[in-house]
Amino acid sequence: MNDRIPALCGLTVVELVRLLDRGEVSSTEITRAYLNCIRERDLQIHAFLEVFEEEALAGAAMADQRRAEKRTLSALDGIPVAIKDNMVMKGHLCSCASKMLADFRSPYTSTVVAKLQAAGMPILGRLNMDEFAMGSSTENSAMGVTRNPWNLEYVPGGSSGGSAAAVAAGMTPVALGSDTGGSIRQPASFCGVVGVKPAYGTVSRYGLVAFASSLDQIGPLCKTAADAALVMNVIAGYDAHDATSDGALQANFTTDIKKGSAPLFGLCFGLPKECFGQGLQEEVKDALLHAAQRLKALGAEVKEVSVPSLPYALSAYYVISSAEASSNLARFDGVRYGYRAKEYADLDELYRKSRQEAFGMEVKRRVMLGTFALSSGYQDQYYLKAQQVRELLRYDVAQALTDCAALLSPVAPTPAYRLGEKTADPMEMYLGDIYTVPANITGLPAVSLPCGLSSSGLPIGMSLMGARDSLPTLMGAAACYEQSEKVNAGLHPYDFTEGSERK
Ligand code: GLN
Repeated sequence: MNDRIPALCGLTVVELVRLLDRGEVSSTEITRAYLNCIRERDLQIHAFLEVFEEEALAGAAMADQRRAEKRTLSALDGIPVAIKDNMVMKGHLCSCASKMLADFRSPYTSTVVAKLQAAGMPILGRLNMDEFAMGSSTENSAMGVTRNPWNLEYVPGGSSGGSAAAVAAGMTPVALGSDTGGSIRQPASFCGVVGVKPAYGTVSRYGLVAFASSLDQIGPLCKTAADAALVMNVIAGYDAHDATSDGALQANFTTDIKKGSAPLFGLCFGLPKECFGQGLQEEVKDALLHAAQRLKALGAEVKEVSVPSLPYALSAYYVISSAEASSNLARFDGVRYGYRAKEYADLDELYRKSRQEAFGMEVKRRVMLGTFALSSGYQDQYYLKAQQVRELLRYDVAQALTDCAALLSPVAPTPAYRLGEKTADPMEMYLGDIYTVPANITGLPAVSLPCGLSSSGLPIGMSLMGARDSLPTLMGAAACYEQSEKVNAGLHPYDFTEGSERK
């Protein structure tokens, strides 16, 4: 075995916790192993924008000390984690992968990072993303692209591409991402890991740089559903700093995972027939139908349902998210913080040049689209219409969920595509979000988990979306599925037992 990339990097959180609990390994050894893996692999993959080596090792040493004194802070005390670069941490840079915030150091810590710290989890570093979380491939990062660990010529998905690639390559056991229209779930599916978008209001958005405030949610990316449920227990909870935080959603997300035998008995999964339209690649469809069969074999019922307004979700999403983005990003004006143009004649030019020089193409496109959709005369036609579609979709999804525990659908119409393949055509890129945006528009929780490999050896994901309080059920179903399914579960793009050679 290559001792530079130890087998520890291939383990799940559950396995690492077991080793820690038995005293067979220390948090320092685990953290060192992941730091070594980052050093070895990230030159090729570029998932990290910054590694907090010393701080992570200091955190691990403290975790070891606590464990020795039998005063651990949580079930995950000593388990390292990495964060998408749009969650602030006091004294650290937070760039949102934008030239606008390249030198921005945060004066405070986001609630979600404070929760990781309070749970004793060493933070390994900041992860690459599409600029301001706008995109589906991480190619919109001003800091360079991230590559898919399964095949370096392919995109890792986005916008949390750094988070997904880091977990898939064994560079961290846990990453946090943010999901406004699929940015946790789609990269998770492109990289063959599990991604969770909690119900709106479950995880505090305080200290998450806003993209579209009515849609944004933070969630975990991990190797398995059981791991993600453990992380949810750490990061969820009411926060007075976030006016949309929902105390009623506090729950134990691992309850249904511990149920053991046949937890799918009596559960019904609905396959929306609108998901099988144009654009869905045959291989993805086959993998999904195979997954449906497997769920049935596990005791679940699967039936066709209808969500008539689903085909309009994407248009509504791009109007609403761009409208909110144009308002949220107005704060980056070159005056208060962030990038400032070097030369300007007057205040007007300061605003204009700062934004022009520091925002990338995609961010500018969203700001223009959003400003247009909100401008007088067009507001009724676009923004209000989109809000009506949002309401209709909420109703239709609720109807479909009346006698189903969850809706089963693809995560994306295709597996990962080649770097550069869709950058010239933003519409083409937007169409890939068709299956993920409904969960954000309706505020419902959804889980993305691997369900197969394409003929070119790239992961394919499936999505489970349920009612507002259904996340523990979804996590239980996902865990049950992945434990039973041999096609992909436990498969990594690297063979950790053989060392660092790519397969
Ligand atoms: N791909 C979608 C977009 O570009 C979703 C982004 C996200 O969830 N942050 O808007």
